Amino acid sequence: MNSFKRNIIVTGGAGFIGSHVVRLFVNKYPDYRIINVDALTYAGNLANLKDIEDAPNYLFVKADICDFDKMLSLVRDYGVDGIIHLAAESHVDRSIKDPFTFARTNVMGTLSLLQAAKIAWEERPEGYEGKLFYHISTDEVYGALELTHPDGLPSPFTTAASSSTNHHAYGEEFFLETTKYNPHSPYSASKASSDHFVRSYHDTYGMPVVITNCSNNYGPYQFPEKLIPLFINNIRHRKPLPVYGEGLNVRDWLFVEDHARAIDLIFHKGRIADTYNIGGFNEWRNIDIVKVLIRTVDRMLGNPEGYSDSLITYVTDRAGHDLRYAIDSRKLQRELGWEPTLQFEEGIERTVRWYLDNQEWLDSVTSGDYQSYYEQMYANR
Ligand code: NAD
Repeated sequence: MNSFKRNIIVTGGAGFIGSHVVRLFVNKYPDYRIINVDALTYAGNLANLKDIEDAPNYLFVKADICDFDKMLSLVRDYGVDGIIHLAAESHVDRSIKDPFTFARTNVMGTLSLLQAAKIAWEERPEGYEGKLFYHISTDEVYGALELTHPDGLPSPFTTAASSSTNHHAYGEEFFLETTKYNPHSPYSASKASSDHFVRSYHDTYGMPVVITNCSNNYGPYQFPEKLIPLFINNIRHRKPLPVYGEGLNVRDWLFVEDHARAIDLIFHKGRIADTYNIGGFNEWRNIDIVKVLIRTVDRMLGNPEGYSDSLITYVTDRAGHDLRYAIDSRKLQRELGWEPTLQFEEGIERTVRWYLDNQEWLDSVTSGDYQSYYEQMYANR
């Protein structure tokens, strides 16, 4: 069973970011066994990993992270020496409707996994110095930043990816690793709580942990309740594009494969007990994203310019909607040499092309549960 150099659990590997992380590790490290632990909720889909499902170093285990006994037997039975924890309830709108599920999975689930990891850590072989527990979190734990420049300032950051036509910042402040936590939604509150538990396992028990807080990801395999895939799908099917408020909220966007590369680097080289922010140095107002998506989808489908503009539908703003998230990830750039590589325009081209070419995948994930949730969410707006 233990012919592999390392045995690593990736939780939430059937989800959006998790599937990219699993794919990267399975392909890049044939001598690691990658054990994907996922409960396959509405957001988990094994079709995301079709291309690697037969790889000899890949294993899928359907399990709920809240099941402590199961987590303990997994870490023991497979001699697990690294956990990359992505499993979570991840959609803010759902957290507003059903906060308990978020507390259960994101807080209790993380705690159950931590406790199992701690027992494995206490049973570790002599001389073991791994980073046992890598917790993936969000920049939303920091709360919101002021949107002081609604028309944008030139961004103070430059990276390999930053020749974007929209190289703006919408305020002067950025989230740093030292920014005080101030979560506003039940989702971000649950993630903040899990971050604190993870740190406490280092501070109390000496367990090696590392945490990263990342901005909004986009790319293939994202569940189409999130802005970018939802809107690509709606433009294609001539459905309304529900834009919250006036669409002026600002988010930083990072291509998911750049995030997966950062996770790989930090898993191997990050400093134990440290936190790293991960971001795209790439702020966009929601309404501008929507316009880019309309232009790109219309062009790819051969529609005349402006054909889908009338689909934009302004809807009542999300309760407690944070105005601006903007992340400063220069610590990661400085200390480990990571920066985003894909320009936003190219990332959007690749993403739109992927969703247009993968209608079957979209149909399979938008049937059933999600369809009724979507109808309920937007029925009265
Ligand atoms: P996702 O919703 O696409 O996937 C979550 C996965 O977790 C799914 O496969 C689901 O089946 C699984 N899961 C949910 N509950 C589980 C449970 N109780 N036990 C086992 N598996 C369970 O999420 P994502 O967008 O890929 O996000 C992954 C992680 O990254 C989350 O922790 C999220 O907070 C964090 N994050 C996401 C973003 C983003 O933009 N998507 C940004 C920063 C951080």
